Amino acid sequence: MSRTTVLGYAARAAGQRLEPFTYEEPELEDGEIRVAVTHCGVCHTDIHAVDADFGVFKFPIMPGHEIVGRVTETGGAISGLKVGDRVGVGWQGRCCGECEWCRAGEEHLCLDIADCGTWTPYGGFSSAVVVDARFAYPLPEALAPEAAAVLMCAGIAVYPPLRKYATGPSCRVGIVGIGGLGHLAIQFAKALGCEVTALSSSPAKEAEARAFGADQFLLTSDQAAMEQEEFGFDLLLCTAQSGNDWANLVMVLKKNGRLVLVAFAPLDLPLGAASGSGPAVDFVAHQLSITASFLGSRADMREMLAFAQEHGITPKTEIMPMSQVNDAMLRVRENKARYRIVLVND
Ligand SMILES: [Zn+2]
Ligand SMILES: [Zn+2]
Repeated sequence: MSRTTVLGYAARAAGQRLEPFTYEEPELEDGEIRVAVTHCGVCHTDIHAVDADFGVFKFPIMPGHEIVGRVTETGGAISGLKVGDRVGVGWQGRCCGECEWCRAGEEHLCLDIADCGTWTPYGGFSSAVVVDARFAYPLPEALAPEAAAVLMCAGIAVYPPLRKYATGPSCRVGIVGIGGLGHLAIQFAKALGCEVTALSSSPAKEAEARAFGADQFLLTSDQAAMEQEEFGFDLLLCTAQSGNDWANLVMVLKKNGRLVLVAFAPLDLPLGAASGSGPAVDFVAHQLSITASFLGSRADMREMLAFAQEHGITPKTEIMPMSQVNDAMLRVRENKARYRIVLVND
């Protein structure tokens, strides 16, 4: 079969704008499929990658990992997917298949995870991607493509830790940061039956946070309001990319409380009491836990998609043409997206 050209947008060096970038589409290996991209969400992790914040990716880098499209070609040894199927693909597009984590069905913890991205070698800000078919998830036709795209990364980032740690109506959950991840986390936590509070530094987000299902809204810059919530929360899910006031967040955790990190945010945790530094007095005396959560397994992804449909979890999206990817990236960088931008191939 003759190869066609894939058109995408890539950064040639750290911090640069994305520019049109073409490459000849690769032959498929056994177990791989080609997906024609119709939609791709813009995630803060795309910005981290372009800025070389992780230090593990090579340039040029073509980001994009909240992908929805149609299967256009299948390699050998594929079962369950055929040409024409509509699928979603998230950040993980393959795995080593041999390490202890892959063998245990927790491929998101693969020891080769840095090479498992959908954007290796080229991601979803493009006309097509090639992925391991096991990481392409069939989508029901009823699920809007822009919604499915956002679930593929933002959804899988927040659902597994909430399902695991936010247990029922007596659980008071705080969602810290009301953006792409946070606005979904409010909906998931509410659907899981929790009492949900949105914590944000932006008073302008209160009305929408309540519309997403938050029972309360807590302005993190309002010190008096924060102090009223001392020992208030069983669980805080931290989705903000920056600006976390860790001292206040530790203060509002109940004893045995859990701080769950899902964003690649700077972590400058004050371990002492009011002083903000020193020995880990509060952490130890209050029996607090810090837990991080990274995406989810393939089973988690399937469960999340089913749960989102059953409970009507609906990402709020802005649609932009793929050719405006730099404007979209800038809006995300400036925290202006409400609440997730999804690029549509022109
Ligand atoms: Zn992402
Ligand atoms: Zn592995």
